[in-house]
Amino acid sequence: MQEGEVWAPDATHGFIKGTVVEIGSDTLTVQTPDNACIVAAYSKVFPTSDESLVDDNCMLLQLNEASLLDNIKCRFKIGKIYTYTANILTVVNPYRDMAELYTDKVMAGYKGTSLGKLDPHTFAIADKAYTDMSYRGVSQAVIVSGESGAGKTETTKHVLKYLASVYGNTSANGIEDKLLQSNPLLEAFGNAQTVRNNNSSRFGKFIEVNFNKEGEIVGGHINTYLLEKSRVTHQNASERSYHIFYRLLAGADADLRRDIRLRDVKEYKCLSEGRSSQAMGDAKQFGAISNALRCIDVSDAEIREIYKIVSGVMAFGNVEFIDSGDTRGGSKVSPESYDWIETAALCLSLEADDLQQALTSRLMQTKNMKKGTTYMVPLKKKEALHNRDGLCKSLYTRLFDHIVHNINQSLPLSEKSSCYIGVLDIAGFEYFETNSFEQFCINYCNEKLQQFFNSRVIREEQELYRAENLGVNEIQFSDNQDCIELIERGFVLLNEEAKLPQSCEKHFTSLLHEQNRRHFRLQLPRRSKLSSYRSMLDEEGFIIRHYAGAVCYSTVGWLDRNSDTLHSSLEQLMLTSDSVLVTKLYDDVQDVKCNKKMVQDSVGGKFKKQLNKLLEKLQGTATNFIRCIKPNQHMTAAEFDGGKVLNQLTSLGMVTALELMQAGFPSRIAFKDLYDMYSKNLPDNLKSLHPRMFCSALFRAIGMSPNDYRFGVTKIFFRPGKVKETQDSDRLRQ
Ligand code: ADP
Ligand code: MG
Repeated sequence: MQEGEVWAPDATHGFIKGTVVEIGSDTLTVQTPDNACIVAAYSKVFPTSDESLVDDNCMLLQLNEASLLDNIKCRFKIGKIYTYTANILTVVNPYRDMAELYTDKVMAGYKGTSLGKLDPHTFAIADKAYTDMSYRGVSQAVIVSGESGAGKTETTKHVLKYLASVYGNTSANGIEDKLLQSNPLLEAFGNAQTVRNNNSSRFGKFIEVNFNKEGEIVGGHINTYLLEKSRVTHQNASERSYHIFYRLLAGADADLRRDIRLRDVKEYKCLSEGRSSQAMGDAKQFGAISNALRCIDVSDAEIREIYKIVSGVMAFGNVEFIDSGDTRGGSKVSPESYDWIETAALCLSLEADDLQQALTSRLMQTKNMKKGTTYMVPLKKKEALHNRDGLCKSLYTRLFDHIVHNINQSLPLSEKSSCYIGVLDIAGFEYFETNSFEQFCINYCNEKLQQFFNSRVIREEQELYRAENLGVNEIQFSDNQDCIELIERGFVLLNEEAKLPQSCEKHFTSLLHEQNRRHFRLQLPRRSKLSSYRSMLDEEGFIIRHYAGAVCYSTVGWLDRNSDTLHSSLEQLMLTSDSVLVTKLYDDVQDVKCNKKMVQDSVGGKFKKQLNKLLEKLQGTATNFIRCIKPNQHMTAAEFDGGKVLNQLTSLGMVTALELMQAGFPSRIAFKDLYDMYSKNLPDNLKSLHPRMFCSALFRAIGMSPNDYRFGVTKIFFRPGKVKETQDSDRLRQ
C-alpha cells in the first residue's frame, strides 16, 4: 500500500485507487494515477490495504464496499467465481464452461464438509442446507437472487443436481429423475431468448425437495410465479417468444406437422416480431421436451394435445380483423385470416364459426329487462384484436400452469416427508429504461425479500450474539416496510380503478399521488425524465424510491396488464371444446348457466397472495442466501464491469449486509479449531491447557487488542479482518 492511498468512487470501475490531495469540510479530492481528480463525500472514500485474496470477505482487514468489490474482482480474474461473506455466497457468472467445477468427484468432495473447509461453492451451501436439516430437523430454503442473466437458474440446477446426486437414492422411486427432468420442460415453456440472456426464465419458481427422517428424497413440489404473459403476443427487438414455439416448429416430424397444421416459422407473426433469427438448437431440443413430458407420466395422446394447443395459439396470433361496415361499427375476421381461424378451431376442437363470433362480439346481459336476457354486442376492430391477444395469452398461461400441475402430480408429496429443502429462483430488482407493471410486481417481490433478508441476517446475527453472551448492543437497520405498504396501496387502488365504469390509468396515477402526498418513497416523475421516453410523452407515471434505488414507472396499460380475465363469451366457448385438455384448462371458469360467478383475482392481487404464502413458508425455514452477479452486459467471459457489479452488490443488499457485519463481529472460530491449528507445534505443558485458556494466553502473547475480539461460549468472535492476525502468527510459528 502506498502512503495515503484510498479507494475513490468511479462510475465505470466502481472504485479507483488514488491519493488524497485536498481535504474539504464535506468532501475529499482524490487524484488518480492518470491525473484525474475525483471529489467525493467522506463516506464514499475508503482506505486501501495490501491484501491477499480471501475466500470470505469477512476476513478482509478493511471491510467496506470497495474492498468487497476488489476481492470479488481479483478472484474472478483468476477463475474463482465463488466468494463467501460469512454464510452468504456470491457467484460471478463466468460465461464460459467450467465443467471442472461441477464433476461427480467435486460433488462427492463437498459431502459432509463444513462451510469454509473447501473452496466456496454452491455445493457447499447445498451441503450445509442438507446437514443443517438433518441435524436440526429444520426445513431449509436456498434463496438465489440476481438480475437477469446473472446465473440464478444455473445455480438452482447445481443445488438440485447436488442434492439428487449426493443424497438421492436413484433406484427407489425416480423422484430425482423427475425433479431434474422438470427443468428442460419448465425452460421450454417458460424461457425465452432476451437481450440479457439467451435462455432467460420468464417466471419465478420455488422448488421443494422433500426428505424423510432417514434423509432420503421422498417427494417434491414446484410453485411458479408471474409468467410473463405479454411475450406470447409481443417481443422487443432481438428477442424471441417462448422456446417451445420454435422447438415444436423445428423438431416436429411430418406426421405431427400435418396433424396439428404447422407451417413455416416465418409465417407466424407472433414469432417473428422480435426478428431474432438465432436458431438455438431448436430441432435437437424438441426431442428432449417430449421425453421430459413422458418422464413425468404424460401420455402420448396428451403430449399431442399439448402441441396442438401450442399450434392453436400460434395460429390465433395471425388472425386479423377488418371493419364489417355495419352501422354499429363492428368487425369481422379478414378473408385472408379465415384459414388461420380454421386451423385454430381445429387445434382447439372448436367450431370455426363459433370462434369467429366469440372473437368479434361480446355477450351482454340486459340490466332492466327480465333477468337472464342476453344479447350480442359487436366489437370494434381494436377490441377484437385485444380479444385475440387476450385469448392467446390466456391459453398459453393456462397451458403452462397445467404442465407445472402435471410435474407436481408426478412427484409424490409424501406423508412420510419430515423436512424439505426449497430453492427459490426469482427475478431480482429491475430498472429498465421504461418500467411497467411487471417491474412493479417484481420490485415489490424484491422489497419483500429484502426485508426478509435483512431481518434474517440481522436477527440470526443477534440471536447468535445473545446465545454466546457477547453483550453486543442491538444493531439498528433501516426498514422498508413503508415502501411495501405504499406498493400494496398501489395494487388496491388499481383494482378499485378497474371496477369504475370509466376506468383509466391517468385517474389511477393521480389518485396514487394525491393519497400519498409527501410520502418519502413516492415522487412525481420529472418532466425531463418522462419526456425522454418518447412513448410516455403524454402519459402518467410515478417514481418509487426502492431500497436499491429510484425507479420511474410508466402506468400505460396497467389496467389491462393487471387483469387476468378473458371476456366471458370466450371463456364459455372454451368450455364447449371437444378436447378434454382445453376444457380442463378452463375448469375453474363457471358455466354461466349455474349462476355462481367466481370472482377472478387481479394479477397483482394473486401475486401478492402467492408471495405472502411463500414468505410464510420461508419464515418457517432456516435460510441460505446465494447472490448471483453478472460481470458485464455483453455475456462475455473475462470482462468485469466494476461499476455495474457494484450496483448489483447494492441491489442485492450485500453492501447493507457488510455495514451490518462491520458493526459487529463477522468472523468467528471455535476455541477448539484455533487450538487444533497450533496444538501440533505446542510444548506439552501448553498442550494440556483447555482450548479456551489456550486462546486467551495466545491472544495476550501476540498482542491482540481486547477491542478486536470477544469470547463467546463456544467460539471467539472477531472484528472484521482480525481473525487473520491469529493465522499470520500461526504461519510464523510453523
Ligand atoms: P438467470 O437465471 O439469472 O437469468 P441463467 O442461470 O439462465 O441466468 O444464466 C445465464 C447464462 O449464463 C447461462 O445460460 C450460462 O450460459 C451462463 N452461466 C450461468 N452460470 C454459469 C456457471 N456457473 N458456469 C458457466 N456458465 C454459467
Ligand atoms: Mg433464470
